[in-house]
Amino acid sequence: MLDAFKSLVLNYSYEPLQFCTARHAITMVFGGRAEELDSAGYLVRTPSTSFELPTVIRVLKMVRRNRKKGLAFSKKNILRRDNYTCQYCGLSNHPLTVDHVNPKSRGGKTNWTNIVVACKTCNLKKGDRTPLEVNMKLVRLPRKPDLFLLSFHPDRMPMLKSGKSTCQTISWPNL
Ligand SMILES: [Zn+2]
Repeated sequence: MLDAFKSLVLNYSYEPLQFCTARHAITMVFGGRAEELDSAGYLVRTPSTSFELPTVIRVLKMVRRNRKKGLAFSKKNILRRDNYTCQYCGLSNHPLTVDHVNPKSRGGKTNWTNIVVACKTCNLKKGDRTPLEVNMKLVRLPRKPDLFLLSFHPDRMPMLKSGKSTCQTISWPNL
């Protein structure tokens, strides 16, 4: 459940670093590696306590990054770029995989512009075909992110948009 929620991680200098799962954010806050800056009204209950799910956290140690190098091409960063959302059906609460838009068997490259996040269902449906052949549309065209993680946008944070008025309770053992 918690893996469906994302938290924004800020550097010690308050510069946005990346998004992580709320579960990871909680672990960082409770482990003393980060502080919670904002929450969205989701209450997490454990047998002994309850706390709000953090939506924005700040690491307590400066994370240095090599900007010239750019973002590493990895599954993790593809997931981040695509906001952990299937680029065919737009769902994020399904098991996610990565998909070659132009299939590998047809010479499709493994790079930023040909790999997207796809849920297992869409990946299976698409198989070894192009999106056009199966009449599937991409939510947006994949591109190499230029430090996209630095550009905070509420659309990437459904939790933030929900506001504090809708307080929901999540039981910790079921996370
Ligand atoms: Zn899908």
